[in-house]
Amino acid sequence: MLTSSQITAGQQEMMAVRYRRRYLLCQVLTIIGAIFLLALGAYSYLDNNPVLGSILTGNTLVGLLNLYLLKQSGNVERAATILSIILLVLSLSLLVTGGKDNTGILWIYPILAINLFINRFWSAVIMFSLFGIASSLLLFTPLSALLMTSYTLVEGLRFVLTTLALNAICLAALRSEEKSYQTIMQLHNDDIRKMAYYDTLTGLPNRWSFKTNLERLLSRAKKDKQRVGLLYIDLDNFKQVNDQYGHEAGDRLLRKFSDRLAEVIRPTDQVFSQQTESLARLAGDEFVVLLPNIKDPLDASSVASRILGIFDGGFEVDNVNHATYASMGIAVYPDDATTPVDLLNYADAAMYDAKHNGRNCFRFFTQEIADKLYQRQRIENGLKQALNEGHFSLVYMPIFSCADNHIVAFEALLRCNSPALEGLGPDQFIPVAEATGLIKDIDLWVIENALKAQVALQKEHRFTGKVCINISGVELHNEQFPAQVKQLITSHNIAPQCIELEITETAFVAGDPACLATLNALHELGVSIALDDFGTGYTAFNQLIHYPAHCLKIDRSFVNDLFSEREARNKMVMIIQSLARLYNLRVIAEGVETQEQLTYLKDLGCDWAQGYYLSRPLAWPEFLALLKK
Ligand code: C2E
Ligand code: MG
Ligand code: MG
Repeated sequence: MLTSSQITAGQQEMMAVRYRRRYLLCQVLTIIGAIFLLALGAYSYLDNNPVLGSILTGNTLVGLLNLYLLKQSGNVERAATILSIILLVLSLSLLVTGGKDNTGILWIYPILAINLFINRFWSAVIMFSLFGIASSLLLFTPLSALLMTSYTLVEGLRFVLTTLALNAICLAALRSEEKSYQTIMQLHNDDIRKMAYYDTLTGLPNRWSFKTNLERLLSRAKKDKQRVGLLYIDLDNFKQVNDQYGHEAGDRLLRKFSDRLAEVIRPTDQVFSQQTESLARLAGDEFVVLLPNIKDPLDASSVASRILGIFDGGFEVDNVNHATYASMGIAVYPDDATTPVDLLNYADAAMYDAKHNGRNCFRFFTQEIADKLYQRQRIENGLKQALNEGHFSLVYMPIFSCADNHIVAFEALLRCNSPALEGLGPDQFIPVAEATGLIKDIDLWVIENALKAQVALQKEHRFTGKVCINISGVELHNEQFPAQVKQLITSHNIAPQCIELEITETAFVAGDPACLATLNALHELGVSIALDDFGTGYTAFNQLIHYPAHCLKIDRSFVNDLFSEREARNKMVMIIQSLARLYNLRVIAEGVETQEQLTYLKDLGCDWAQGYYLSRPLAWPEFLALLKK
């Protein structure tokens, strides 16, 4: 989208081109004119016509002065006016003096033409009128006594008619040039308007103009006591199309979808009148449909069903059937919300609910969603406050070697003491931090403080184990992250070998090059990488070879299910252990809560273990006390 500075830059560029052209024209014409006037002036003196000679040389001097002023100030308009006056004086002088054998009159035609072209249209009209009146007075009234030569009536008429025709042609040309300039400027403005208000890919109104439309529509609905439905659409699996088939294919899909969308929301049942302005593309694969004047909130569902109908077992573009569908959320004014911002947010929240409920469906905004949204906003504000006011802290969970029960590592776990987040653990606030982007700052805070703790342990307590730091899956798509980690490691002067970064397995997208690049960059720093909550994700076992991972952390639910009846789950620990051995990876079992579980894990050959049975996460003083023991 164009910014306002680019808009003025575009227009300024056009004006600058025009200015440069006029500047050059004034400059060249003045130089040519000065040479010409000087030569003609000298000739007139030699020809015993001192009046014309002095007018011509006088004009030469004024012309040169004009050139100097133009160079100094760059004021083209003034230079053009002075040049125009010089040319006008010159034309009239030629008429008055007649020149040699009255042929001076012939020079008037080109001079007039030039004079018209250096002017803008209306000043050219004024200039021509002045010349027309002055020359007619000189030719056809008693003022002809001022002439130093005489013209017959036929000569006079021929002159006036010729200048009239010449002026008409020049003025018409000037007018058309000015018109085309204005048209170009107008088109340019239209383009800019289009770019500012419409999405360039689909031609639909963009987020900005949608907001304006929504505000207008709601204030009308308020006056007329009408209902307005807002349908928020987000395409499912669109990212995969971009990743697998390239962005061009993704663009074609979006264009085709927006065309189909416009078709299906056209009224067929006369429930409401639909306008194209009711449709908009907010961003990426997010679209909205406004349904003005619906009688019942359920009317919106018939439109939503029609939209779902666009996807018949996927969405076909260029003979390829993509597994793309739509998740939709519906919010209704005034039933759910009364302000444009709330209505949009609520429809968005309902859309998320649809996404989490199997996708390819629509959901109405409900009280339950409202509660979730409220909770989310509360958490978001709490997190911001915690970041600003330093309400975060770490607790330390020891990790033991199964071989000798020694503490070989500790996991730093985040806690938030913000009053707004009381009673909420990282399981609840980390997803909100991830959704709002706050996680990036939080992760850096955690790494920084976990490293500080590790430095203190190494210096003051001769700790030789690892610090295990959880990082969000979001970081796998953050190109700057490896460099930020490197900077923190360097500034704390800590050996990377004693740092382990834990990334939850579900964050991995198989074959995602961006993901892999970040992991490799982290690996190159020398830190070890653990796949956290292993077994809950969908890592195809043969993919493991491609990840630069050093450790698998068995998810605690599998440790919990070790002795359960459920075959599918009680074997998972054994399967992961065998897998780790196959790929030469270390294994940590999480969530050990009983002696029985620990014995089993030891017998199985598990490397390290952590869990409430061994130790709960501890505050710093308690953790130090445990280490000393
Ligand atoms: P996680 O990385 O798998 O951390 C282990 C979680 O399991 C911790 O919960 C820990 O207290 C709990 N746990 C460990 N042993 C036992 C046990 O025997 N029984 C039971 N019931 N629970 C046990 P916590 O601290 O609530 O953390 C939850 C999750 O939040 C973490 O799972 C991690 O994914 C995330 N998290 C925690 N701290 C951070 C952090 O600093 N940054 C990021 N990005 N995520 C974090
Ligand atoms: Mg962890
Ligand atoms: Mg875990």
